[in-house]
Amino acid sequence: MEHKIPFNQPFLTGKEAQYIQEALQSRKLAGNGTFTQKCQNYFQDRYHFHKCLLTTSCTDALEMAAILLEIQPGDEVIMPSYTFVSTANPFILRGAKIVFADSRADHPGIDEKGIEDLITTKTKAIVVVHYAGVACDMDIVMDIANRHGVWVVEDAAQAIDAYYKGKPLGGIGHLAAFSFHETKNIVCGEGGMLVVNDKKMAKRSEIIWEKGTNRSAFFRGEVDKYGWVDVGSSFLPSEIIAAFLYAQLEDLERIQQKRAQIWKAYCQGLQDLASREKIRLPFIPAFASNNAHMFYILLKNQEERSALIGHLKSNNIQAVFHYLSLHESPFYKEKHAGRNLVYSDQYTDCLLRLPLFFELTEPEQHKISATIQHFFIH
Ligand SMILES: *Cc1c(COP(=O)(O)O)cnc(C)c1O
Repeated sequence: MEHKIPFNQPFLTGKEAQYIQEALQSRKLAGNGTFTQKCQNYFQDRYHFHKCLLTTSCTDALEMAAILLEIQPGDEVIMPSYTFVSTANPFILRGAKIVFADSRADHPGIDEKGIEDLITTKTKAIVVVHYAGVACDMDIVMDIANRHGVWVVEDAAQAIDAYYKGKPLGGIGHLAAFSFHETKNIVCGEGGMLVVNDKKMAKRSEIIWEKGTNRSAFFRGEVDKYGWVDVGSSFLPSEIIAAFLYAQLEDLERIQQKRAQIWKAYCQGLQDLASREKIRLPFIPAFASNNAHMFYILLKNQEERSALIGHLKSNNIQAVFHYLSLHESPFYKEKHAGRNLVYSDQYTDCLLRLPLFFELTEPEQHKISATIQHFFIH
């Protein structure tokens, strides 16, 4: 049978097993040990984030954010509709009402200029998603937030090592959340991280992280006994996970370079189709860098996308789409105020993601581009 090209294949640097072995030998397997510290320091040093806490997922990091912001029933939280359910669930769990915003015409990220119209006296936070690792226009977002006194959370799940006007994403909002799920650029199976940029929230974030106890302060010798001081949960991953993640972080540069190379090759390979207006290629605004998290193309409509997925599949290539607009979901449709979100629906119908992973070879990539070109000849 002919060789299959999967949509994703998590990359292993080769050091993961060694670091996990070190963690095992240390006989300290619970969270917040040596490897956890190493990972958190890596982000704090490299990107100058104020405080980083590893979590078991980005979803968990966003749940911590919702607790930290003291989201209450009746509060409103603004976020794009075109995103993963994990952007919304943590705020729903605390009783918030989600006010969904549309995407930009030129990019699936939130339409920054539409945010202000959605603000009411009940608005507590704006959650932006840096879709495909491409920055939202954060000057606009922060300006609106500051003028109305609302919090900003960056869902930076896809945005590792990406920048807005030279500033690292995840370091601009009051809080931010990253993901190391196996589909992201840097992985540990399941994992994430909360970034606390607002200094006033740093101490409490650690308590929420450690099940509502001041255990971390106790181990630093800052208090002479530890106990239950606040709400919290078990958000920290084990040292085995952190050891795996550290091996990946050490290789971040190489991973990013390879992904960028693949991304550029897609652009070149599909440029002709874009010039002939058969497809649209991703748009990167001048204020944003490109961390090559994702390569997507935009088709004319859902039928054309389904046909192309079928054509690729019959050539042993797996391409996928994602995000059914959350305001149209069975869970939220009734609760949504009925505003049309035209661009969100358009990306739901027309966006197609192509395979992009470290070990995707040049011949494989040529085959994918050629197969897409072939589709449009017929
Ligand atoms: C992957 C992803 C998440 C969830 O990350 P987990 O680590 O799997 O919880 C949240 N938001 C966005 C935009 C994502 O892409």
